[in-house]
Amino acid sequence: MSRYSALALLREALRGNAGWAPAWREPEPAPAYDVVIVGGGGHGLATAHYLAQVYGLTNVAVLEKGYVGSGNVGRNTTIVRSNYLLEGNNPFYELSMKLWEGLEQDLNFNAMVSQRGVINLFHTDGQRDAYRRRGNAMRLHGVDAEILDVPALRRMLPMLDFDTARFPIKGGLIQRRGGTVRHDAVAWGYARAASSRGVDVIPHCEVTGIRREGERAVALETTRGTIRCGKLALATAGHSSVTAAMLGLTLPIESHVLQAFVSEGLKPFIDHVVTFGAGHFYVSQSDKGGLVFGGDIDGYNSYAQRGGLAVVEDVIEAGVAMIPALSRAKALRSWGGVMDMSMDGSPIIDRALENVYLNAGWCYGGFKATPASGLCFAHLIATGEPHPTARAFRLDRFASGAVLDEKGVGAQPNLH
Ligand SMILES: Cc1cc2nc3c(=O)[nH]c(=O)nc-3n(C[C@H](O)[C@H](O)[C@H](O)COP(=O)(O)OP(=O)(O)OC[C@H]3O[C@@H](n4cnc5c(N)ncnc54)[C@H](O)[C@@H]3O)c2cc1C
Repeated sequence: MSRYSALALLREALRGNAGWAPAWREPEPAPAYDVVIVGGGGHGLATAHYLAQVYGLTNVAVLEKGYVGSGNVGRNTTIVRSNYLLEGNNPFYELSMKLWEGLEQDLNFNAMVSQRGVINLFHTDGQRDAYRRRGNAMRLHGVDAEILDVPALRRMLPMLDFDTARFPIKGGLIQRRGGTVRHDAVAWGYARAASSRGVDVIPHCEVTGIRREGERAVALETTRGTIRCGKLALATAGHSSVTAAMLGLTLPIESHVLQAFVSEGLKPFIDHVVTFGAGHFYVSQSDKGGLVFGGDIDGYNSYAQRGGLAVVEDVIEAGVAMIPALSRAKALRSWGGVMDMSMDGSPIIDRALENVYLNAGWCYGGFKATPASGLCFAHLIATGEPHPTARAFRLDRFASGAVLDEKGVGAQPNLH
């Protein structure tokens, strides 16, 4: 596979862009693979890349029921950060942040990694204490965190409602290394890198059944025939409970829709990712000028990739409370993705059966986790041992009670 470079761009510009090869191969499925990964989203593709690059496993297939990137990886609001509080989460998300920082070089792909800073606003003294605590926990783990006072915020974010707000802004927590990454470029970059090392990336191949013998999965029934597997890795995000049910497994996961929105293109307006502390709202501006924003999940279970009007109203209301000028922008479109909400809001990277591995429970924070999730899942599949950074993401924590409840709201998926 040819390398992308400034020289290649120049060469192709001079010859009418006739020499670009497809970014990845899309071969017919083989009858059997050492490892079959179900789900060609960010996590499945990243896992395939690290299996090949780090662990030398290349007799691997990624089966995707739609096109590559048609799931949540291409639907999210592109925010990456590692501003986590809990011991089990923080080092994992920081590993991911470090991998983001070197991702474009690793994949030889422009993923538009933009470390523009993520600012969480706070509006009460109690929230200030909570954010100070979170910031201190981050710094203890070597992660950058700073508290911003109101004069600093006024300079950085003059468009916020400071003077007439119902919930006055009292400051913010900033992680300057946080920011955004172009989501579908991440899927394409991982697909290309994995494919170039010999992994078969197979779109339009839906898994419809899994043949199980005792504690082992032996073959997958797919819309493109039967495929035998040495090891099976499930990375199906919002459909985790559906694919696990094919093995007779019930997961501590509920599926909910999360919606996102984009406005018409505007001149540069917001330089950072900003989150509202007095409601659920987060916003950044894309390079095309659209304001990309979102809020809460729809509070009912669904596998539909679209949401309801109640959440549309709630999100826009919070947005206008934070940035009154938003009321003048036109919303261009909205869409939805299916979230695999775990009972404690934290993910699962674990073995589920003798040769079956599970990557699930990402809630609405799994995009930022993509590189670390792929690396840690590949480690587990290749070595049989959990990656040291992902030891806390065990399936049995829901039985033992050793949960990782970052928000402290209990077993209520719609609140995480
Ligand atoms: C609107 C929205 C905003 C979000 N914002 C953020 C954010 O700003 N930051 C952040 O960190 N996270 C965010 N997330 C969450 C994040 O996108 C997800 O947690 C993450 O993408 C899930 O992992 P994935 O990329 O592997 O999922 P997906 O891309 O959904 O991949 C799973 C794949 O499995 C495939 N599949 C399912 N069943 C089968 C089957 N039977 N056979 C074959 N294939 C199958 C699906 O088609 C899908 O492509 C957001 C999500 C949404 C929807």
